[in-house]
Amino acid sequence: MSPYLDPRTASAVIDLDAFATNIETLRTHVAPTAVMVVVKADAYGHGMVECARVAREAGAEWLGVATPEEALALRGAGDRGRLLAWLYGPDTDLGPLVAADVDLSAQSPEQITRVAGSAASLDRRARVHLKIDTGLSRNGATAADWPQVCAAARHAEQLGRLEVVGIWSHLAAADEPGAASVAAQQQAFEAAYEIAREAGLTPSLRHLSNSAGALLLPQQDFDLVRVGIAAYGIDPDVGVAALAGVRLRPVMRLRAQLAQVKVVEPGVGVSYGHTWHTERSTLLGLVPLGYGDGIPRHAGNTGEVGRRGGRAPIRGRICMDQFVIELGDPSTPAEVGDEITVFGPGDHGEPTAADWAAWCGTIGYEIVTRIGGRVPRIYH
Ligand code: PLP
Repeated sequence: MSPYLDPRTASAVIDLDAFATNIETLRTHVAPTAVMVVVKADAYGHGMVECARVAREAGAEWLGVATPEEALALRGAGDRGRLLAWLYGPDTDLGPLVAADVDLSAQSPEQITRVAGSAASLDRRARVHLKIDTGLSRNGATAADWPQVCAAARHAEQLGRLEVVGIWSHLAAADEPGAASVAAQQQAFEAAYEIAREAGLTPSLRHLSNSAGALLLPQQDFDLVRVGIAAYGIDPDVGVAALAGVRLRPVMRLRAQLAQVKVVEPGVGVSYGHTWHTERSTLLGLVPLGYGDGIPRHAGNTGEVGRRGGRAPIRGRICMDQFVIELGDPSTPAEVGDEITVFGPGDHGEPTAADWAAWCGTIGYEIVTRIGGRVPRIYH
C-alpha cells in the first residue's frame, strides 16, 4: 500500500542511527560469530530497503528474508551481499533467485531437486542451507527424513549444481534459557550436523539462534546468528536484554498531530458502542491513526499515548482511521496540530512498543510489524 497519509499528519520515524548501533552492539556481543540481520516483513515494519542498506553499513555479513519476493526486491534495490530466503511455495520459480545469487533454504529432496534444476537451467551452482526441524515443529526436515535430505543434497553437489553452505534450525524457546527444549534442540542440531558430514557434506555455516538466543545462549551461537527484533531495539521478551547486559535502542517512533480538540460535557459516550463515558466536562483529542494503520483495537480504553512529556489515556474503541484520547480538564492547553507519540523509545515519557504489547496481550514484534503501509516512514 502507498503511504496514503500526509507525513505531517502521522508518520513512523525510523532512527537509523539506533538501528546501526543495535547491530554493532549485537555484533560485539556474539563476536566472532557472524550476524544475519532479518529484514523480512518490511524489516518488521521499519522499511526493508533502508534498513537493509544500514544493516550492511553496520557490518551485517548476512541479511535474511522469508519470501523470494523480498529477496528479489533487495537485489533490485542494489543489495549484493549474502542473502538467505527461506520460505517459498511449490509453484515458486526459483530461477530468478539462483540467478540473483540468493542463498535458498531447502528441507526436502523435492526442494533440492527443484533448486538444482533451476541452477542447471542457468548453468550455475545454487547455494543452499539445509533446514532441520530440531523441535519447533514448524518448517524443516524431521530427524527421520534428514539422512535422505542430506543424501539428495550430496548427489546434487556431485552433479555440480548445488553447494550446501549451511545447516540451520530455529529455536522454540530461546527466551527461556533454562527450558529443556533449548538443550534438546542444540543436541538434535549437533547430531544433524554430524549426519550431514557423514553424508559427505561440508557446510561451513551452522545457525540456530534468533535474537533471544544470540543474547542469552552463547553456547548456541555456532557460526552465525539470525537477529531480527533486537536489531530494531525491542526486547525479545521482558528482561532478556537486561539479563544479557545489552542495551537496545528502539528504532521506531510512531507519532501524529492531533486532528481535533474539543470540550465534551459529562456523561457523554465516546466512540463506537459508547464503551466509555466522560466522567466530567473534559477535553478530548482525536488521533488520526486506527486499526487500518495497525493500531491494535485491543488498546481501546486500555492504552495511552505520550503527550508533552506525560501520558494521555485512550478513551473508547479504536476505529479504523482514528481514536480518541482524553487530554484533561477543559483548561488544559491543547490545540489541533499538537504532537503526540503513540509509542517510541520511552525517553520522553511516552509508552514503548513493549507497553503496547502488554496492554494488548501480544508481543512487541506484532506492534511494530503491523504498522501499515498507509503510514509514511521518515528516516533520519
Ligand atoms: N530466523 C527465523 C527463521 C525467523 O523466522 C525469525 C523471525 O521470526 C528470525 C530468525 C529472527 O527472530 P527474532 O526477531 O526473534 O530475532
